[in-house]
Amino acid sequence: MKNKSRSKQKNHRRNRRTTALLVLLLAAALAVLLIAVVPVLRLRHAASALASGDYDTAILIYSQYGTLYSADEHLKEAQYQKAVSLLSEGSYSDALSLFTALSGYRDSGDRAKEAELGLISTEIDGGDYNGALTKLNALDDGYTGKDALIQKAKFGRAQLLAGIGKLENAASELEALGDYDGAKDLLNSVRYNLAIDLLAISDFSGAKDVLSSVPDSVSDAATLRGLLDAPFDGVYQCVYTDTAGRTEPGVTSYLWIHSVIGTGTTSTVLGMQEDFSEGTPDAASFGTAALNYVYYQNPDALTWYFSYAGSKDDSDTDGGDCCEKLVLSDDMKSAVTSIVDSSTRKEVTNARTRTWALVTDTTVADTVRAGFRNRLKQDLGMTGNAYFADATNSTAVTHYCCVDNCTNVGTLVAEDAVSRSYYCEEHRSEYEKDSRVSAQEP
Ligand SMILES: [Zn+2]
Repeated sequence: MKNKSRSKQKNHRRNRRTTALLVLLLAAALAVLLIAVVPVLRLRHAASALASGDYDTAILIYSQYGTLYSADEHLKEAQYQKAVSLLSEGSYSDALSLFTALSGYRDSGDRAKEAELGLISTEIDGGDYNGALTKLNALDDGYTGKDALIQKAKFGRAQLLAGIGKLENAASELEALGDYDGAKDLLNSVRYNLAIDLLAISDFSGAKDVLSSVPDSVSDAATLRGLLDAPFDGVYQCVYTDTAGRTEPGVTSYLWIHSVIGTGTTSTVLGMQEDFSEGTPDAASFGTAALNYVYYQNPDALTWYFSYAGSKDDSDTDGGDCCEKLVLSDDMKSAVTSIVDSSTRKEVTNARTRTWALVTDTTVADTVRAGFRNRLKQDLGMTGNAYFADATNSTAVTHYCCVDNCTNVGTLVAEDAVSRSYYCEEHRSEYEKDSRVSAQEP
């Protein structure tokens, strides 16, 4: 009985030892599996993830194995490939941080520069031309493609400058861009538009200068050039006479009679502006109360009818549409104006008839023209012509900073009686340097 139980005990101990050994063996096998086999499998999984473009999985696995089986090198390669992929899909910011972190690995340095340029290119596409140009100009020559981006930004900025009415500025930028794709065509169109704006204020010599470099193929440039060979542009004067015919000695009325030329004009018609001045016209205020006559009809080259808003005579209080008849002398040195009924063209009884003489003093004539043009500029600015927007102080009109190449809205105004310029906050120092600002301060 005793023997039996001893042998049972022996068996039991043997079994226990066997179990322990098995557990130990299993643990060892598991350890081998964990230490050697699992990493191999995991790293193999990482490699296939990398090959299939699952960069994040590859990066996660490689980053867990330190230098084991060169996981650190594979990690760099996975990060590099992820960065390359980000770069190609236009995720420049993320690509840039990865390539920067990989500094020295393969061509990461060059790729980082490529990503930086890509990032700036995105800013250009978003319209931040000046911001992009500041960044581009700070880059060294190691950035391949930098110059092309500078041109792209400058071209974009020129388009914007043209759009906000800074036409001369846009033109000089486009001239500097030379053969850049689209620059010549835009330059021609900007110059044409500039000429049209100058014609809107009847600045014939200014328009002629600008049109001289616009090809015939641009809109009706050739026709306009032809019309500008001999525009009518005379300033006349007479003693101030009210609608009832009473004169006021010492007060002079001025009449600017000029051609009206613009897009689509095929033959010359005339326009007129009128204002009066006590003594010699003052450049600071002349033209502010100008009467604007609009061409109506002309039966012959010397007889012209204009419509205007005003009063026909002393009894006319409705201030409705009136008609002014102009008869020029053969030599154009004098003119007679009279108020006529707009439908019958017969002279209004008791209304004034005035005889005008051509002003030969060019200083006076130029002051008169400048005064009328200032008034026209303000009217055009108010009706949405961006080129003349800064001529008005209306808050309903958008004014742009006058500093070259600045595309910001201007809120700081420097002005005197005859001119006005707007500056943005960024150019506050330029504003403070403006001589009109110190003169404005009390
Ligand atoms: Zn500015």
